[in-house]
Amino acid sequence: YERRIINAEKLSIAGELAAGIAHEIRNPLTSLKGFMQLIATGRIQQNRYYPIIKSELMRIESIISEMLMLAKPQVYEFKPLNVRQVMEESITSLAKQAQMQHVSLQYERIPEPLWVLGVDSQLKQVFMNILENAIEAMPHGGIVRIELAPEEKNMVRIVIHDEGDGISEDQLSQIGQPFYTTKQKGTGLGLMVSYKIIHNHGGEITAVSQLETGTTMTIRLPQLDQDPGKELLNDQPFHVVSVF
Ligand code: ADP
Ligand code: MG
Repeated sequence: YERRIINAEKLSIAGELAAGIAHEIRNPLTSLKGFMQLIATGRIQQNRYYPIIKSELMRIESIISEMLMLAKPQVYEFKPLNVRQVMEESITSLAKQAQMQHVSLQYERIPEPLWVLGVDSQLKQVFMNILENAIEAMPHGGIVRIELAPEEKNMVRIVIHDEGDGISEDQLSQIGQPFYTTKQKGTGLGLMVSYKIIHNHGGEITAVSQLETGTTMTIRLPQLDQDPGKELLNDQPFHVVSVF
């Protein structure tokens, strides 16, 4: 029996995920427990440890919110939206982080809106995940280039290019698997969530990378062929970090 095999397979994926989540959350919890014990002794300067405690708590929080995202994608409503605007909001949200890491976000604003049917909070999460990875790939700073363009076959193309460490061929086949990370503070969930969201939007993500040269992530989404109308427009004038 086929069915039994399928069930067993499902179970092992669920088991693998559960083990992964448990492991990922236990690490920061163990560290938090250690700090609480230290603080309880009363012999340490407590506030020295607050930033570490905060970052461990934030790590748990981001793991949980990413898992929740996977758990209930059906509550989201798909609406016509302008990808250009979602990207501009994502860039703004990351401007500070980029600046602190000496990364310049270069974005060429195309004149026309690019309409897709989607969930803006989800697409923003994807753009931010991929932009964050690009920024994190350049510990000594550099340039991230962001390009949006309409493409043939009614697709919208979103390209995020960095000059970072790159990804080896071996790693390239593993990125996007749950909890696969090469970072000390990584969750290894960003790309998995992103692939899932883009898949739900009828699109795809591709990665091209070269070690020590950089990485290009390309997202393609089906374009709405009709302009959904002026009343849906919420296209505020916009500031970006760097435009060429
Ligand atoms: P995380 O960022 O928490 O590690 P992700 O799922 O976002 O998890 O990414 C998984 C892994 O893919 C990263 O740890 C890194 O090894 C690799 N990766 C993703 N994007 C890039 C990039 N732009 N440059 C280099 N490596 C990348
Ligand atoms: Mg990431």
